Amino acid sequence: MKLKNLLLTGTLFSISSFASAADQVILISVDGLRPDAINLLGESELPGFFRFHEEGIWTDSARSDFDYTRTLPNHSSMMTGRRVTGPAGHGQISNAMPPADMTLHNNTGEEAYVNSVFDVAHDHGLSTALYVSKDKFVLFEQSYNSATGAKDIVGEDNGEDKIDSYHFLVEDRAADVLTDRFVADMTNEPINFSFIHIVDTDSAGHGDNWTTPDYMDAVKRVDSYLQKIFALIDGNQALSGNTSIILVADHGGAGRAHSDAADSQNHTVPFYVWGAGVAEGEDIYALNTESRTNPGMGYPTYENAEQPIRNGDAANLAMQLLELPAIFGSTINAEQDLRVQ
Ligand SMILES: [Zn+2]
Repeated sequence: MKLKNLLLTGTLFSISSFASAADQVILISVDGLRPDAINLLGESELPGFFRFHEEGIWTDSARSDFDYTRTLPNHSSMMTGRRVTGPAGHGQISNAMPPADMTLHNNTGEEAYVNSVFDVAHDHGLSTALYVSKDKFVLFEQSYNSATGAKDIVGEDNGEDKIDSYHFLVEDRAADVLTDRFVADMTNEPINFSFIHIVDTDSAGHGDNWTTPDYMDAVKRVDSYLQKIFALIDGNQALSGNTSIILVADHGGAGRAHSDAADSQNHTVPFYVWGAGVAEGEDIYALNTESRTNPGMGYPTYENAEQPIRNGDAANLAMQLLELPAIFGSTINAEQDLRVQ
C-alpha cells in the first residue's frame, strides 16, 4: 500500500506536492567510477551523464568515506547514512563475500540493529528494490529480510522484510541484463525506492587499469544504461515528472586498485541528482554553501568543520526526496540539510 500516494490523492494541492517531492527515487551507484573519465569522454560520448549536468545538479568533487574506499564499506554508507568506523559507524569493514550469517547488525561481533534506506521507505508503506551486479551484496539482503529486519512500528505494520525484491544479475562482468530487468520491472509497476549497483567500471579498472581504453568503454556502456533509464522515465506517464535519480560512486581507482583511501583518485567521486524536486543545471556545492564545502584537492576527516558532500549523503537525500524522515541512527546528512533546489 502506497501510503504517500493515498495522502496525495486526498490533498487539494497535490500538484504543488508533486513539484517538490518524488514518488520514485532511483539511487544508482556506479562501482569505481572516476569523475574525470566523464569529462575526458565528454557530452557527445556520454549523453546520459551530461543530462545530469544540464538538467540536474552535480559535482565531480564529492568524497567517499574517509577511512575506506572499497565497495561494501562505501555501499553500506550509501544505504545507512553512517561512516564506516567509530561508535556511530555501520562497522562494515570487510569487503569480502559475507558468510551466510553476517549482517550489518552483527558484523562487529556485537548485536545492534543498523537502520537503512530500506527500513524507512518500507516502514512508511513504500515499495523497495535492490538490483546488484556483485554477489557479495547479498550482505544487504541478509541484513533486511523477514528473519533479520526490524519490527515495523511506523503506522501500518508492513512486516520485517525491508527489501521487496532483490536481484543479483551479471553477465560478462557487466550490468546490461540487470538494467534491462530494472527497466522491465519499473514499467510493470513503479517502485518507490530502488537501488541499482553497476559493476562495469570496477571490472574494467581491476582487469586493465583505470582510464585505459577498456575502462573508457565501460564508462560509455554505463552511459547507455543511464540512457535506458532516462528513456524509461520520459516515456512512462506514471514516472515522468515525479521521479528523481541520485547517481554516485563508491570509490574511484588508480592503477589496478582503489584500496588506498588517502589517494585522491580513489576518494574523489561524482554526486549527481536529477528529476522531481531538483534544480536544473547547478553546482550542488553552490546550493549548499552553509553546510558543505568543496574540498578541492583536500581530504577532510569527519571531524573537520567544513564537510564535503560524501557518497553517504545519498541515503538521507533519497529519503528527503521521498518526503520521508532521516534514517534512525544515521549521522551523514542526518539533518537532511543537503539542498537540491
Ligand atoms: Zn573494486
